[in-house]
Order: sequence, then C-alpha cells, then structure tokens
Amino acid sequence: MRKLRHFINGEFVDPASGKWLDVFEPATGQKYAELAAGSAADLERAVAAAAAARDAWKNTPADRRSRILWRIGELIERDLDLLSAAESQDNGKPVTLARSLDIPRAAHNLRFFAAAATQFASESHAMEEGAINYTLRQPIGIVGCISPWNLPLYLFTWKIAPALAAGNCVIAKPSEITPLTATLFGELCNEAGLPPGVLNIVHGRGNEIGTALVEHPAVNAISFTGGTKTGADIASRAAPKFKKLSLELGGKNPTLVFADCEWRKTIEQTVRGAFLNQGEICLCGSRILVEESVYERFVADFVAEARKLLPADPALEETRHGALVSREHMEKVLGYIELAKQEGGRIECGGERVVVEGRCREGWFVAPTVITGLSMDCRTNQEEIFGPVVSIMPFRDEAHAVELANGTPYGLAASIWTGDVGRTHRLARDIHAGLLWFNCWMLRDLRVPMGGMKQSGVGREGGFEAMRFFTEAKNVTVKFA
Ligand code: NAD
Repeated sequence: MRKLRHFINGEFVDPASGKWLDVFEPATGQKYAELAAGSAADLERAVAAAAAARDAWKNTPADRRSRILWRIGELIERDLDLLSAAESQDNGKPVTLARSLDIPRAAHNLRFFAAAATQFASESHAMEEGAINYTLRQPIGIVGCISPWNLPLYLFTWKIAPALAAGNCVIAKPSEITPLTATLFGELCNEAGLPPGVLNIVHGRGNEIGTALVEHPAVNAISFTGGTKTGADIASRAAPKFKKLSLELGGKNPTLVFADCEWRKTIEQTVRGAFLNQGEICLCGSRILVEESVYERFVADFVAEARKLLPADPALEETRHGALVSREHMEKVLGYIELAKQEGGRIECGGERVVVEGRCREGWFVAPTVITGLSMDCRTNQEEIFGPVVSIMPFRDEAHAVELANGTPYGLAASIWTGDVGRTHRLARDIHAGLLWFNCWMLRDLRVPMGGMKQSGVGREGGFEAMRFFTEAKNVTVKFA
C-alpha cells in the first residue's frame, strides 16, 4: 500500500505516532494509500525545521527566491500528466479538468508569486514637517497554511507561493481527504532547490494536527481555506493569541439571469458555473435567480443542458462529471436532496446516487440535480451543500433580485447575466459579495483581491493583498529638518 508521509526539513518522514489514515479513490470507493496521521510531535519537528531555516530564507535575495519558485512552477508543468492523473484519482474530478484547470493553475500560482517577489514594494509618505515615513514589509517568520480538498494542489499552492515569496517559512497542511498532490509537490520543491525546512508539509486530521498548528506559539499567521464552521473554530483559537488570520470560507452564491441576457451563452455558462468539479467549487452558483418572464424557458433549457453531464469514470478523457470526494460528502449531498423534497422542492433532474458500471461500480457519483419550487428561506436555499445541486427561483424585478441575492448569511461570489450596462453597475454596488462576475464566471486574474464578506470570510488573498498579509508592516519616521 502506498504511504504518504510528512515532508519535514526536505525529507519524507513517518508519523511519530506510527498511526496512518486511509485514503480512498472516490471513483472506485476503494482505499489506495495510507496517510501519516500527524500529531503534536510531528508538528514540533516541522516547527524546529522551519525555525532553523527562517533567517537564511528571510535574508535570501528576492531574485533568488523568485527563481526557485519559478522553477517549481516549471516542474509542475513538466509533470502535468502525472499530477493531473494523481489529482483525479485522489479527488474524483475528471482528469481533463485537472489537466486544463487545477494543475496549470498551480503552476501559474508559483510563477505569478515568483514575479510578485521581485515586484512587491512598500509605501513612503513625505511630511511637510521635514520628515519622511517609509514602511518596511518584513516576513512574518513561520506561517501556517491550511487548505481544503476541492481544488487540492490549486489552493495549496495559492497560499504557499505568496507566503514563500514574501520570505516566510511555511508549515502547510493539505486536506487529509486529498493529500496526494501535496506529497508530490514536496518532491518538486527538493528538485527545484528549495532549502530544507523552508516548506514543511504535515498531514493528518484537522482537529488534531490542524488544531495544533493553529495553536502553536511559534506560528505567527494562519491562512485558511475551508468551511465556515472550521473557520470559526480556527478564529476562536487564533484570536486570543493575536495571530494574523486570513479566512476563505463557504458560500451560497447567487447566479442572476435577466431576460435581456445573451441566451445560449448564459445557459451554457450557468450550467458550467453550477456543476464544474461536481459543484465542489466555493465559487459555484447554487441559487439561480431568474427573471420571471423567462423563468419557464430557462428551467427547460438549463435542465436539458444539465442532463448532458453524465457521471462517468473520471479517468476517461471524455468524462465531464466525476465522483464526489468521499462517501460522507456524498451522503451529505443526498441528505440535502431529501431535505429539499421535504421542504416542497421538485426535482427537475438528477436527485440520486448513480451507479457507473465497470471499475467505478462502488464509486460516489451523484448526477447534476436541479430543484425548483423552494422558497428563499428554506434550509436548502440557506445552507452550503457544496455538490452538484442547484435551486432555481424566479424574481419579479431588479430590487427583488437583489433582495434574494443578499438573503443568506454568505457573501462570497455572484454571477450576473444581463445586457444592460446601467444594471451592471447598480448590481455591482448593491450585491453583498466579494467577487462579482458579469456575463462570465470564474474568470480569474490573480492580481485582484479574492475573498468573501459576511460568513464567507475575513480578509482577501491574491496579488499584493496576499503579499501584504504574509508580511508585517513596520513604519519608520525620519525627521530630517
Ligand atoms: P474543512 O473546513 O472541513 O477543512 C479544510 C481544511 O481544514 C482541511 O485541511 C482540514 O483538515 C482542516 N481542518 C479541519 N478542522 C480543523 C480545525 N479545527 N483546525 C484546523 N484545521 C482544520 O473544509 P473542506 O470540507 O475540506 O472544504 C470545503 C469547504 O471549503 C467548503 O465550505 C467550501 O466553500 C470551502 N472553500 C472555500 C474557498 C474560498 O476561497 N472561499 C475555496 C475552496 C473551498
């Protein structure tokens, strides 16, 4: 059985406890690897390695740091096929998606922040009193990066790359559900010449080694992406220790469709925005709000398009809809579908577990599911499901659309389909979301602030926002006259 070990001080090491967790392939439902079950003792090792590497890495010129990160990005690209197959096996996503989205984006993260390392600059403010301020932005020291299972290498590198670029040593904890590509990433870091101890990857359960990482006194900042409940737990532990915190949390994103949209493109792209990666993307639109004059037509066309996404073996080139990440997650999603029925919803398509014949017979597949007839305040429309399930509701006018869009505790993203330029700017002003896409979805520019409001998060990542998060600002005032 394949063993996935911690990566500490440039070496792959067994867990101190001698305990291992099972890792499953979602498409087959079979165990395929064992993962180090990390504990506080492993974390101490990682902290010691990071502490030993800290000063040398902090004092490494930005150009040198940049070259190493760039090289890691190149190695990810070299290993595109291998990493894509690994991501698909570990997560259940179609291999073509991993090859076209996840892994190229991971390489891009490395190259983008390699460039940021050399471009990042700080402010200076002159004063009439004959003085000048300049702000030093220094690395924080040792930082913790905790990432989820839905876009494993993509989100893992999204945090690690800016943390390293800014001159920090990192202890990273990938999801225990999808640890494979993070482990392979450690090998690439060694090959690229990243000094030992600069990046340490620890594995295990969130409520064990994750909690230990959040609470460790030598770890000065935590960047977390995951569920809102977990974010609240992390905040409650980190706040009394005055750690810097960045929280990228859950969502219940609205998709708004107005009658004046470009119809065919809207249908195709709203289906994509609902079900890409089996709906397991924090930015997916799970509440689709449609102007009532085109509601019936929209439901018919949307359902027809969604039916084309047939669950199938994610390892096959033609597959567009893979398996859900775990049995527990599949059961949670199916539980929400049952709840929707109890709440009076009508299942327009999907709604069940699907058996994919052949090697995937035991896999965790759920077909794209479309529900209508629910009110805004029911649990199905308020709670994050994070699977291939959407609810479609009509709205009367723009004001009603805004009321529905803002009617959950979340505020991560929204996508809006309309041909009216004035409306675009009014909705940009009025919708409570950190990311708004008009006539597109998940079109990402890595320079822009990324994150949510309300229960979708605290702080922003991306571009120089991330570089600022991973540095400590120190202002210096010099009086010269
Ligand atoms: P999760 O919160 O269960 O786990 C995320 C990570 O945190 C994992 O590595 C896990 O081991 C760790 N963890 C769990 N409990 C912990 C604790 N008490 N202390 C420290 N670490 C702990 O989330 P998930 O199920 O892996 O991911 C799905 C969630 O992530 C969804 O809610 C989704 O919306 C969210 N997400 C948000 C974004 C964003 O950018 N806002 C992006 C992707 C996913």
